[in-house]
Amino acid sequence: VSLKAVIGQPLAVELAERWLVRRTVHPFLFYGPDGVGKKTLALELAKTLNCLSPAKPEDACDACAACRKIKGGLHPDVRVVDFALQAAEREEALEKQQTLRIETVLNERRRLLQSPLEGRWKVSVIDEAHRLTPDAANVLLKILEEPPERTAIFLLTPFRDRLFATLVSRCQPVRFRRLSDEEMRQVLRRFEHQEDSPLGSGPSLMRVIELALGSPGRALHMSREDQLQGVLEAEALWQSLAGQPPSQVLGKADGRGKTRPTRADVEARIRCLLLPAARALRAGELEASRSVQWIEDALLKLRHNVQPGLVFEQLLLKLAASQKVVQ
Ligand SMILES: [Zn+2]
Repeated sequence: VSLKAVIGQPLAVELAERWLVRRTVHPFLFYGPDGVGKKTLALELAKTLNCLSPAKPEDACDACAACRKIKGGLHPDVRVVDFALQAAEREEALEKQQTLRIETVLNERRRLLQSPLEGRWKVSVIDEAHRLTPDAANVLLKILEEPPERTAIFLLTPFRDRLFATLVSRCQPVRFRRLSDEEMRQVLRRFEHQEDSPLGSGPSLMRVIELALGSPGRALHMSREDQLQGVLEAEALWQSLAGQPPSQVLGKADGRGKTRPTRADVEARIRCLLLPAARALRAGELEASRSVQWIEDALLKLRHNVQPGLVFEQLLLKLAASQKVVQ
């Protein structure tokens, strides 16, 4: 039941199944786009390692107390080390977490050096491993060099090449890929029948699949966080930019008018523009890679305290001008 929950990653699942037969202590590096199943697979493996009534040794029942605890993030031997955990440990706001710090990794090290509390295996999932500070990475490296008995460690990241090479060399790398539209539908269908399903059906579901670029996680996020509206607006904005004179374009930057947009508003609107730009890129439009670059530059500028409104205007002008050339 359990590993089959990971759709669209046959290579990763096959590797995981082979590993389950041997169960050597060897850290894994799961890398690939956000929201395509890296954390899901790590946690499904954690279930298999700790399931109380497995139907066969390489599969979890998904129903016993251990499986349910892992699913709910409540198992004492299975931990996801991420910004949320760090914020809780430091009693700080989540938004304040920009890096994974040495204290967080030291805490995890202490935990891993103890015997399991109630399971058979300790599992550590280090999310966004590219955000480790250099000294945090050093501590982690020490753990990876001599992992404690019956400990499974998973490093997750979308950016394998931003990770310290020493860390990468200690792990077995496993690549995760974007899902096809059909695989996306398969994953999302599971959520459709839930009572509080965030997903619509019919055209809006199709739209979400199209815009999520092969990431079910992103599709769910878009629907849950009410981002779909923002995405649809960005889409309309993108379409309307082609060949507009500057005065018209600047009108669009004001958006819904009324109040002055905050930095967060502007950032969200610019981020949404990445979706149509990325799709244009995928469709092989020549100007699209430049557009994506401009959008990313704009996001960077926002972080460096440049006037948000101004950054947005300049971006729209550039995009409009480049689309004019295309048409
Ligand atoms: Zn179980």
